[in-house]
Amino acid sequence: MAGMLGGKERWVATGSIGALIAGMIVGELLHRGGATATVSGFSVAGDLLLVRPLMMLVLPLIFTSVVAGITSLGDPSRLGKLGLSTSAYFLATMLVAATLGATLVTLVGPGLGLAPADVTALTTSGIERFEAAPKLTQAAASGEQGLGTAWLQIARQLIPANPFASMAEGQPLGMIIFAIVLGVALALSGDAGNSAARVLNGLNEALLRAVGWVLWIIPIGAFLLVSASVGKVGLAELLGPLGLYMSVVIGGLIIHMFIVLPTFQIVLGGGNPFKFMWAMREALATAFATASSSATLPVTIRVCETEGGCSQRATRFCAPLGATLNMDGTALYEAVAVVFLFQLYGVQLSFGELAVVVATATLAAVGAAGIPSAGLVTMVIVITAVNASLGSAKLPVGAMGIVIGVDRLLDMCRTTVNVWGDMGAARIMTRIAPD
Ligand code: ASP
Repeated sequence: MAGMLGGKERWVATGSIGALIAGMIVGELLHRGGATATVSGFSVAGDLLLVRPLMMLVLPLIFTSVVAGITSLGDPSRLGKLGLSTSAYFLATMLVAATLGATLVTLVGPGLGLAPADVTALTTSGIERFEAAPKLTQAAASGEQGLGTAWLQIARQLIPANPFASMAEGQPLGMIIFAIVLGVALALSGDAGNSAARVLNGLNEALLRAVGWVLWIIPIGAFLLVSASVGKVGLAELLGPLGLYMSVVIGGLIIHMFIVLPTFQIVLGGGNPFKFMWAMREALATAFATASSSATLPVTIRVCETEGGCSQRATRFCAPLGATLNMDGTALYEAVAVVFLFQLYGVQLSFGELAVVVATATLAAVGAAGIPSAGLVTMVIVITAVNASLGSAKLPVGAMGIVIGVDRLLDMCRTTVNVWGDMGAARIMTRIAPD
């Protein structure tokens, strides 16, 4: 694995970790120095150098990877086994993550015991921020129609009327389903299917080669993006009134990343999880820097196959699906954030309401797109469901605004866990679908 790295890979894998550390230090210095123009410049440069090139490759890569993965499986019954096992893993890990989040936030109580003046300041500025964020007010307007609407939205994405429209709108789920249908049909179409599959496979290989070129930029892009994100907010937020809330989210994510998911890997035969994690560091660094599972996907696929010892079949199936559906970090985050907001508003949730939080945080994580702040937008599903089970809107949806200011830093952390969960799936499912 790591021992097989060439010169370029070594620069990327080592450089990306160095870039994260340097980015945090420089970002904090920029924040303290009030260098807002430099921070914006870094953000634009990071976007142009790393995020946009990855986003350019991701949709064609998802399509060709899924078709190539499915056709190489051959027998559709193997697809059934792989599909069921992967879905069970996704669901189980997300439920555990949301339960861990709900438990930690209830035990620590970051929203209890704050000075009344802090609570008033937080809630007033939070509602103002919410009203100034059109993405959130729109989500609130549609989300308040209830859980049924949330399910329906996911179902509509799953059965797209036009897969190309889903692609153009940046909703990869519809395209993945279309690619699965096409892959199965090609696998069953004999010679005609084989030649089409070969073309798509060739395209997939070419796209992965192009991903290799973008890998060179990861250390520089990651440095710019992390400096910009830290430079905007500053690490001192960790000491403010939201500090305990942020620590609970980050603590929960650390437990899930270093204890829970590795345990799943060990128990389900995925080998040594920490060796694997080290081999995957460039993708994990990309996730942290971009806060986007989708933008990271090209890197995830490439490193799982080249350095992680995952089979192409398992990787090409699990990674694209995981980047869209499997979000452990987001599930944990949503559970913590919502319970924290209820605590701030003086509502202690009972066991039954916490169960609603866990179930809906998982649903909200499935429904979140793999882009920055998506988890913040789908949080409205969880708030609405808990309010419904309480019988009245004890928490105004606009309270989400309270956590907007510190969202980016938490997004970087939860996206890293989201991507780590997807890699674990590729690793475990390699047993079911070896090359
Ligand atoms: N940014 C996350 C991701 O891309 C989604 C979220 O906002 O939680 O995985």
